[in-house]
Amino acid sequence: MRRFLLVAAVLVAVAAVFIASSLPPRHLALADPAPDQMIPGVIHVHSKRSDGRGTSDEIAEAAARAGLKFVVITDHGDGTRPADPPEYLHGVLCLDAVEISTSGGHYIALDMSTSPYPLGGEARDVVDDVKRLGGFGIVAHPDSPKDDLRWRDWDASFDAIEIVNLDTAWRRRAADTSWRQRLDLAARLLAYPVRPAESIAALVQPSTIWDRWAALAKRRHLVTLPGADAHARLGWRAGDAAAADVSAPLPSYLASFQTMSVHLRTERALTGEAGVDARMIIRAIRAGHAYSAIDGAASPPSLDFTASNAHGTVRIGDELSAGGPLTLHVRSNAPPGYRTTLWNGATQVGDHHEQDVSVEVPEGEGVYRAEIRAASPLQDLPWIISNPIYVRVPAEAPVAPGPVTPPSAAVALFDGSPKGWTVEHDATSLGAVEIAETGTTRQPALRWRFGLASGAPEGQFVALIAELPHALTTTSDRVAFTIRAERPMRISVQLRTEHDRWQRSVYVDTFNRDNTIMFDDLLPAGPTATDKLPLADVRSLLFVVDTTNTKPGTSGRIWITGPTLQR
Ligand SMILES: [Zn+2]
Ligand SMILES: [Zn+2]
Repeated sequence: MRRFLLVAAVLVAVAAVFIASSLPPRHLALADPAPDQMIPGVIHVHSKRSDGRGTSDEIAEAAARAGLKFVVITDHGDGTRPADPPEYLHGVLCLDAVEISTSGGHYIALDMSTSPYPLGGEARDVVDDVKRLGGFGIVAHPDSPKDDLRWRDWDASFDAIEIVNLDTAWRRRAADTSWRQRLDLAARLLAYPVRPAESIAALVQPSTIWDRWAALAKRRHLVTLPGADAHARLGWRAGDAAAADVSAPLPSYLASFQTMSVHLRTERALTGEAGVDARMIIRAIRAGHAYSAIDGAASPPSLDFTASNAHGTVRIGDELSAGGPLTLHVRSNAPPGYRTTLWNGATQVGDHHEQDVSVEVPEGEGVYRAEIRAASPLQDLPWIISNPIYVRVPAEAPVAPGPVTPPSAAVALFDGSPKGWTVEHDATSLGAVEIAETGTTRQPALRWRFGLASGAPEGQFVALIAELPHALTTTSDRVAFTIRAERPMRISVQLRTEHDRWQRSVYVDTFNRDNTIMFDDLLPAGPTATDKLPLADVRSLLFVVDTTNTKPGTSGRIWITGPTLQR
């Protein structure tokens, strides 16, 4: 018995020493000699409305306690719910945005008008729709280790990207199964009640998307933002918060908000009037007048980053015309041992330990950003990440969009009669096709009526189908058509072989729009037997209304004229 007690005491002592020795460094409270006048806030927060734990009131209260001035709440949705107007709660400006699930990852849309149809499907289409609806889109958790959370469409023209995401930070640590990482993670969990923000901050590692970001930012403005991805809910089931049966309020909203923040440079101080301030906050986010900070390591942060040359001086997020040597200047309140690194794209151009850093770089184009990394034992922690300053050589003339070679041959698929056109639908939906006239020239059109069955989305669809003469598609490389609908929609154009379908979705407006869909732009609709569309096996062309972008219970009419195979 005595021996048992001794062993137990030794084990407890070892555990205590382990926890004590692996406690994350205590948060450094910084004197802020020169306040940088930036507005601190947080983006990417989930409330009760989707899979978060708290109400917007509780979220705002936590944000106020963390010293933040605004919160962008991003509940999961499809863009069809009208956004709540901005409002001040507990002195914190609450903005209502939406996180949309696409087949290529999650996309946050803010400042967007209500979508007339559910947004979803391919990432490139959702990115286009958000843009058309006037919204600003942020790629969420692009480098998540979880397959369906990771961003996959790097050609889409998204506006911004998360360079820190606390959900990703946690998942990346958990995905590493080496015993060292396991032990480290266990220590962080044990340390959480003692030093919550420090424990979460210590999980953050440098983003893995910088090379991709550098390649894109060379050509266009691409804003970088931190995403808290705060749910205040940790699920017990396989780490999937949304599907969890049991959950803990971990990490709390307060802990998340004390871990990380985004700092915005607005044109002037906030006024206290929600509508006016929301416009200023959104303009600053859109412009990339922002830097991110890991407050769990040290706070409050202060950063001023400028670039100067013969044409003048600009600050974070802005653009400068190339002209003569360039001086980059960073002034911060970085604690001793912290390291300020300047980057041009993915290339390092300076590395310093001072709070006041000047670096001269030769004339030429560049995308410069400042990053301050914490000191040991957090040496990889990106304490501050600035948006870039873009130095560009003014373009002589705008580059025209890539030319689509005009068609040299064409086969009409519609001769004014419905012959060869049929409608298919699931057992509960309805559809029909007839001939009508459309447009000012009273052209004959295929008028296609659809009625998706109501209820939960369970594969309802209505398709207008043209059987294609054998091997016709092997002599074509695209299909062209003119289309309009009673209300704005997104439908799918597909080629079908005996077993598989390939698709590209198109936006349909209430007036006639010409569309050309290149066959090599089609992607598999579900699993397909081959990676590449086998054109010789294609039997039919389909126009499909389904629940990807149309709500169950919707009915309407669509007019199609001049469907033509071309090459
Ligand atoms: Zn997400
Ligand atoms: Zn999220």
